[in-house]
Amino acid sequence: MSFAALWESLLPLGRDAGTGGYRRFSWTPADAECRQWFFTTAAERALSAGADRNGNLWAWWDAAWTDPGAGPAKAVVTGSHLDSVPDGGAYDGPLGVVTAFAAIDLLRKSGKAPVRPLGVAAFCEEEGARFGVACLGSRLLAGAIEPARARALTDSGGVTFAEAMTAAGHDPAALGPEPGLVAGIGVYVELHIEQGRALADLHAAIGVAERIWPHGRWRLTFTGRADHAGTTRLGDRRDPMLAAAATILAARGAAARHGALATVGKLTVDPGAVNAISSSVTAWLDARAPDEARLHAVVEDVLAQARTVAVAHGVDCGHAQESVTPAVDFDAALRDRMVATLAAAGIRAPVLPTGAGHDAGVLAPQVPAGMLFVRNPTGVSHSPAEHAEPADCAAGVTALAAVLEDLACR
Ligand SMILES: [Zn+2]
Repeated sequence: MSFAALWESLLPLGRDAGTGGYRRFSWTPADAECRQWFFTTAAERALSAGADRNGNLWAWWDAAWTDPGAGPAKAVVTGSHLDSVPDGGAYDGPLGVVTAFAAIDLLRKSGKAPVRPLGVAAFCEEEGARFGVACLGSRLLAGAIEPARARALTDSGGVTFAEAMTAAGHDPAALGPEPGLVAGIGVYVELHIEQGRALADLHAAIGVAERIWPHGRWRLTFTGRADHAGTTRLGDRRDPMLAAAATILAARGAAARHGALATVGKLTVDPGAVNAISSSVTAWLDARAPDEARLHAVVEDVLAQARTVAVAHGVDCGHAQESVTPAVDFDAALRDRMVATLAAAGIRAPVLPTGAGHDAGVLAPQVPAGMLFVRNPTGVSHSPAEHAEPADCAAGVTALAAVLEDLACR
């Protein structure tokens, strides 16, 4: 089956007819459709597939052992995720999973077979769009988050991860690290659409990841006093919206000063009435920087300014760190090997850093991990406008197949 046919088969699942964006949130009916697509796609290729105890999906092409005396060899795993941000694009995540299956098709077509197990993974709740912690499935797998904390995470409707998982037919009591599974992975390579314009500017279809910037999420809560919009004098107000607004602007300034990125992309406002001063506003700050010192500096800068503007507006300001992910330097030997493999296949692949987190980054401390990027002509991501050209997707399949052949077939 061609990449295009496989891509088309996944495209309609979880797409909102109004926005054209994707709403593939963990443990929802759209997520169940994506999981079924994964199992069907694996079955069509005679790959043995299943979900692990953390809801991550695996499909295995078992090795044709050339040396029965050599014992079990460590696996080569590739993949990405199928969940999306609200009204996300089609490519972020699914491109890596579809390309993985298409690369296996290409290897088979050219008569190649693995001499060690070759797996395709689709990790659960990578975006953190429903339960607030990014890469939740791979963090659980790797033991990078307490299972009890994961079980208690809630979505915007107050449903816990455990409840949502149970409703989808999975047992949340089983959540937790799988050291045996992780130890059996010799290398993990994730192909992903680039979430920036670096490759477009370099006129290259494929890139290789160098490092992931350290990044994190902070929740800021401004609490004031609900009051009547038409009768409360300006001087008498304790309006948390004003403090939140000033903090959002401060975040932009702080990011520019520190050479970092800081974004408030989500607010909840209570009670959320047009004719009422709000009682409280919660703002989520996403911050990323080239190194940990600058990440720490930009967040401290924003928090200090939030406290100052809160005092100025007579409101209380609290904050909580929801997640912090340290910088990840991908395995240098793997990176160099992939660049050389691609060069031998006639593919020029520049090495670039990224500000986006990925499951490959969560696994990197325990498993040699690397990433391939596919050019994004506009750089737009986490949006229905996210796009990759068909020729670049095809180059992605060729590149991943070359890398898998090198890692798993010889
Ligand atoms: Zn992604």
